Amino acid sequence: MRDKRAIIIKSPRLQKIRNNLRLLLLKAARTERERLYKEWRGFLVGSEGKRHSIKEFSPDKLEQFRNLQEQEEILKSISDRSICKCIACGKADRDMVYNKAYDAWYCTDCYGLERSVAQRRTKTRERGSKSCEEKALEEHSKTFL
Ligand SMILES: [Zn+2]
Repeated sequence: MRDKRAIIIKSPRLQKIRNNLRLLLLKAARTERERLYKEWRGFLVGSEGKRHSIKEFSPDKLEQFRNLQEQEEILKSISDRSICKCIACGKADRDMVYNKAYDAWYCTDCYGLERSVAQRRTKTRERGSKSCEEKALEEHSKTFL
């Protein structure tokens, strides 16, 4: 995929279909994440309500526990970085712009805001030493230019 790609739909009817499909996909991902969460939580709290420490788990049970947590986290990352919602504001009903540097989609509003900050930062670039935080913000901004 190109570094920056905007997906803009102008037809209100198509926007509505897009938004409903996004909500459906996000809900399906959330439902699956909840299932995975309940499953790994079940390892910690037994059906009798007794709490278990992971220190008590056998190596196989611990591996299964970690796999479930990992699957849930991967699904969260995929969902958060998908075109279904803006990674910055979380809105799911907007046109989106892809930022390859972050492998994530931003709504056009957030992308525009980041871009204007990046342009201002470029104009007022100061010489001299910068803190690590300033350098990180500068690198972040460059990805929107
Ligand atoms: Zn946004």
